[in-house]
Amino acid sequence: MYKRATGVESCGVCSQESEKGFFLLSMWICLSCERKMVELDVEDPSYAWYIDRLRGSKVNHRMLSH
Ligand SMILES: [Zn+2]
Repeated sequence: MYKRATGVESCGVCSQESEKGFFLLSMWICLSCERKMVELDVEDPSYAWYIDRLRGSKVNHRMLSH
């Protein structure tokens, strides 16, 4: 059985496994998605898509909904 290298997380947005990234609330975000999110304008439809992905996590949903 394939054994995952320690420290490799699966990105919550694009589902790609990446060693480099960060946890946004409870979701792992890879570097490429982080860059996209930083560059995105709030008016951009893609921005809403990212926020929607983040809300896919129950913990995130609770934190974002105040
Ligand atoms: Zn990603």
